[in-house]
Amino acid sequence: MAALPRMPDGIDYNQRMSNSKDKFETRAIHAGQQPDPNTGAVMTPIYQTSTYAQEKVGETKGYEYSRTGNPTRAALEANLAALEGGAYGLTFASGMSATDTVLRALSPGDHVLVGGDVYGGTFRLFDKEYRRFGLEFDYVDFADLEAAAAALKPNTKLVWLETPTNPYLGLADLAALAALLALRDPKPLLAVDNTFATPYLQQPLALGADIVQHSTTKYLGGHSDVVGGALIMNDAALHERYAFLQNAAGAVPGPMDCFLVLRGTKTLHVRMDRHAANAAAIADFLAGHSQVESIYYPFHESHPQRELAQRQMRNGGGMLSFELKGGAAAAHKVAEATRLFTLAESLGGVESLIEIPAAMTHISTAGSPLEVSPGLVRLSVGIENVDDLLEDVEQALK
Ligand SMILES: *Cc1c(COP(=O)(O)O)cnc(C)c1O
Repeated sequence: MAALPRMPDGIDYNQRMSNSKDKFETRAIHAGQQPDPNTGAVMTPIYQTSTYAQEKVGETKGYEYSRTGNPTRAALEANLAALEGGAYGLTFASGMSATDTVLRALSPGDHVLVGGDVYGGTFRLFDKEYRRFGLEFDYVDFADLEAAAAALKPNTKLVWLETPTNPYLGLADLAALAALLALRDPKPLLAVDNTFATPYLQQPLALGADIVQHSTTKYLGGHSDVVGGALIMNDAALHERYAFLQNAAGAVPGPMDCFLVLRGTKTLHVRMDRHAANAAAIADFLAGHSQVESIYYPFHESHPQRELAQRQMRNGGGMLSFELKGGAAAAHKVAEATRLFTLAESLGGVESLIEIPAAMTHISTAGSPLEVSPGLVRLSVGIENVDDLLEDVEQALK
């Protein structure tokens, strides 16, 4: 792998990343970014170019072709690496293409142990595509580490999970799991989809994970206006392998998309605090409502892993799910009756969303062991005024 891309005039775009003394909020705004050396532009320019002039044959300023590298993308990759506390970041056209890169690096006959509650598209890619190429998958609930340990096989090369999970907000004890995997030879890679928590709430690499995956479409972008993905890691060889695949397969994000995610990460910490405060208030309201059967929110007193959540995460995040006593029919009614919560897939934007996972985001898990209850309602709680959100949920439940 060539040296990290350098800006014209030899100014290292990744320079700020090395300033690891900076606190999270400062890194969010400055890591990977500095005034443009050519113009002084304070915001990272959108380098909307596919190719780069060479002074002599083969003599470049670090960039030859934008599938291989682009300065706006390099700034975002450095920023995300700094936020996750990792040495390397790679960005992709979507969260799924980031996931695809990790799976593509495996070989036929390898076994992957997957969390029993994962994003529907992740299950679809594993089950409908990679199984066809000779990868083996098993699904376990990582809340039960003994069961997870028992499901490991001699050919387990990768452990893939979400914490909190989508849509049931279950947790995995990452430090304990990493310690357990470290005893194995060969040690399976531990990959954590950190989309729900974001690096502001939890940093899996520090807890022993090898790879962090993100759908930057969600909280990192934060404004529901871009689709993207990322991988962050510490190991140089792993970075080299995934960077090779990023270039070889070519599922790269465009510079405009990278710019939008960079704009998003600048306010991540402020947004996440408000998302969590609003979600916690709605969780309390729902837990006390006569028509609500159960709620799933990591920091709520009813959550069976609340203690772990409080140890592993800075706050409970903006996602919560609940089930109504009236089952699927009541769930559909509520999802169609909100005024401020928009009925839509996706999550992590400033605006509140409501959806029915079994019929929407997780439809590909129907009939599988990962099937979601048809009566489950999932909220992505936005950063509107909390009283307005509470009033909206209350009127929808009437
Ligand atoms: C959305 C999502 C993905 C997939 O990301 P895309 O950007 O939609 O490709 C993966 N994991 C989780 C937890 C998600 O929410």
